[in-house]
Amino acid sequence: MYQSFIGLEVHIHLLTKTKVFCECRSAFGDEPNTNVCPVCLGYPGVLPALNIEALRMGCIVAKALNCRIPEKTWFERKQYFYPDMTKNYQISQFASPLGQEGYVDIEGGWGVKRVRIHECHLEEDAGKMIHTGAASLLDYNRAGVSLLEIVTEPDMETGEEAEVFIQQLRRMVRYLGVCDGNMEEGSLRADANVSINLHGKGLGRKVEIKNLNSSRFVRLGLNYEIGRQSKVLDAGKAVVQETRLWNENRDQTESMRRKENAQDYRYFPEPDLPIFAPDAAFLKSVDDALVEFPLPRQKRMVAEYGLSNEQAALLCEEKSFADYFEATVAAARAAERDAERRAQIAKSVTNWLLTDIKHILSREGVSLMDISALKITPKRLAALVAMVANHETSMKNAKQALELILSEDKDPMDIIVERGWGQITDPTEIGRAVAEVEKEEAETVRELSILIADASVSKRARSLSAYLTGKVLARTGGRADPKLVGELVRRMIENQAICPSSLAPSIGE
Ligand code: ADP
Ligand code: ZN
Ligand code: MG
Repeated sequence: MYQSFIGLEVHIHLLTKTKVFCECRSAFGDEPNTNVCPVCLGYPGVLPALNIEALRMGCIVAKALNCRIPEKTWFERKQYFYPDMTKNYQISQFASPLGQEGYVDIEGGWGVKRVRIHECHLEEDAGKMIHTGAASLLDYNRAGVSLLEIVTEPDMETGEEAEVFIQQLRRMVRYLGVCDGNMEEGSLRADANVSINLHGKGLGRKVEIKNLNSSRFVRLGLNYEIGRQSKVLDAGKAVVQETRLWNENRDQTESMRRKENAQDYRYFPEPDLPIFAPDAAFLKSVDDALVEFPLPRQKRMVAEYGLSNEQAALLCEEKSFADYFEATVAAARAAERDAERRAQIAKSVTNWLLTDIKHILSREGVSLMDISALKITPKRLAALVAMVANHETSMKNAKQALELILSEDKDPMDIIVERGWGQITDPTEIGRAVAEVEKEEAETVRELSILIADASVSKRARSLSAYLTGKVLARTGGRADPKLVGELVRRMIENQAICPSSLAPSIGE
């Protein structure tokens, strides 16, 4: 009935080693007030110095979001008072932010939707207030940390779309290596603006939901707000323009402060920082950092490796995981000449990664991002996959070998040889074991050959043949190629059935 409009303001902490205007360490979780200096504590008379890495990372994100980087970009002071900001102004960008007029395509169950990006601007984060029972404490470690704000146009309509926007953006900045995307630690946080109106009437009066620290809360908060505002309009009232907070314990938004007219921040150009005019070398370094993006990569992997969309999405969750997958497939393919087996490689590597390797990572507490630290390198996994494909070892032993690569830091071939886990594929050797079992299990063999001669492939026949196959496998210490064993046992029985010299009398009994 109503049309809804959603615009997001997403803040991301850039992974610069130092803060944006001073040399202090930029890190989460350090002892409070240890990464501070006169600049980020806002002492009078100190001078900010621009961190070029912050500018570069900001431009990398801007480019990834299809923004235009202006010829000149500069900083302004945004004046307001708040205890977590000692200077009483924040250095931010206003008139010419580093990224302008971009877009990003988001994809979900509804198809593809283009969301316009109004701008990306670089600013300093404020300190952190910690409210205890009796007092409020201040930690200025976060003051001055490089913060990039991404502002969208109000092009989204549902909580689901906004959630996907955040998820895609998160994966993107992690791929680019400019933000760890950790929403719980506040490295990525969102303010969500939403209004509703009668169809065709344009934007409504907006409500801002502040400080959402999970993409799920973005979805829940916005959908709650759309419902709440609809009821207000249904009742013939007007929505109050205000800032609200998401209460995750009560699953509702709650009013924080009214915001009737736009606050006047008295922006003016920061006199202590020069105008930045990116040169060709800077712009090239930005372009060089633009890796293949997650969504296109996911689609390419579906086409190139014959994966399902779900599999490709799981593999592309982290760039390092997708890199690991492609390196393993490449190594395994390079060593495989048989076309049929080559075609199977990507599928088996996918299975290994999405089950065994993921299981090991979570058990060992290693994040997907750090997969390259694993002793199971793509080369080693490729060798193991090849050994299974070539029947050089059984799947069961290969899985055990995987664990030993991890604990003993050895190549799979060495482990398989050392433990005697190589698979016997020589028909003569397996034939010998079959002949021995044939003699030992004469009764069973006889019964089975009668069953087969009767052409009644009963349950009993199946269980007897499984029994004999098991006996042969046991005789080879479990190392015989099970497929070959099954084949040789079947042939042995058939021979019995065709020329049952020893059986003839008993049939007549
Ligand atoms: P403000 O001046 O309050 O900061 P802006 O115009 O800068 O507002 O927009 C901030 C965010 O709010 C943007 O993401 C924008 O898309 C969104 N927004 C602006 N007006 C509306 C509206 N009427 N309904 C929904 N979202 C809006
Ligand atoms: Zn400092
Ligand atoms: Mg604004």
